[in-house]
Amino acid sequence: MQRPWLSLPCVQQPDYQSSESLQRASNFLSEAPGLITYQEIQSLKSHLASSAEGSSFILQIGDCAEAFSDCTHNLLTSKISQYTAYANHLQQCLNKPIVLIGRIAGQFCKPRSEPYETINGRQVLSYKGDMVNSISLDNREPDPERLIKSYFLSATVHNFIRANEPSMFTSHEALHMIYENSMTKYHDGKFMNFGAHFVWLGERTRKLGQAHAEYLSHIDNPVGIKVGPNADLNELIEIINKVNIQNQLGKVALIIRLGIKNYKSQLGMIIDKVKESGKKVVWMIDPLHGNTYKSSTGFKTRDFTTVVEETLGCIEIIRKNNEIVAGLHLEVSFRDVTEVVGLGVCDEDLGNCYETLCDPRLNPKQTIALLSEVAVALK
Ligand code: PEP
Ligand code: MN
Repeated sequence: MQRPWLSLPCVQQPDYQSSESLQRASNFLSEAPGLITYQEIQSLKSHLASSAEGSSFILQIGDCAEAFSDCTHNLLTSKISQYTAYANHLQQCLNKPIVLIGRIAGQFCKPRSEPYETINGRQVLSYKGDMVNSISLDNREPDPERLIKSYFLSATVHNFIRANEPSMFTSHEALHMIYENSMTKYHDGKFMNFGAHFVWLGERTRKLGQAHAEYLSHIDNPVGIKVGPNADLNELIEIINKVNIQNQLGKVALIIRLGIKNYKSQLGMIIDKVKESGKKVVWMIDPLHGNTYKSSTGFKTRDFTTVVEETLGCIEIIRKNNEIVAGLHLEVSFRDVTEVVGLGVCDEDLGNCYETLCDPRLNPKQTIALLSEVAVALK
């Protein structure tokens, strides 16, 4: 079967030094068995459709970037039980089933705005996730062996989830094209990504005529599309159309991440445009990615009050437009981190327990508080 996404321009890909070892990794992964099943993919699509109709609610949560070193028994046990506790809390408040999707078991690759970053006065290649390079400043060179390690750890985590919390689905950004392409198998007349149940198109790769959008349009998995303030709405509608040519409810989730400055002026227009197109989408809110800034103490952070305000504001706008808020997309840590300002964390505290490999995550207290606010708003 032709794979048309492979011949298109592909942004945000690592620059590997050794094409031979890259080819070896790619060959290995192409033959490697899938990690999820066709039935699970279909089941998630019907769950998403039910959330879009208001019968359930989607909670998509996890790290901005998973670390290889986090794939230990104790860590995964804590992480998964915490995510389940969040889902249970929300289920009790909302009195409806929660569709729990982790940013987990493969969220190892990150898009970066700049190829280099300066840390402690030293300019190094940007960290692009454990799938690509190491966070260590001395080892930023992309290494193809990390693709293979990502696959095995993703398999380990999938296996662990199945034993511990089999109703949780997995997701990550479809970013590293060699990896995603290798996990994509032709099954029953369709392409499917067998590396995760749900994959999403990020803000930096959402471009018609390029590899990522094209790729998403060929797989049968349910997919997310991040929608940020610079989205071209005509292009967005064309992408939705291409990805969901059959206009199936539950196939495409729009993950709104406009930011506090933009949501009031833009969300209504986005909803109008989607309605005008007649396309069925699942409305989700990501109140974190549009609100990242640098603290006075030099940390990449987000402000909890702002996050709550954008969440509640988006809920109000979606409902005023007679659409249903189907779910939330959040970056959280199960540990008591100090990465997001608010609820007891001030600028000066950020350095106390700042552990994220990439974006700042809500800690458990902040997560529960946000979920409670959402529950009240949705009642
Ligand atoms: C992310 O979800 O970690 C991310 C990079 O999001 P976005 O593409 O919306 O910036
Ligand atoms: Mn992030």
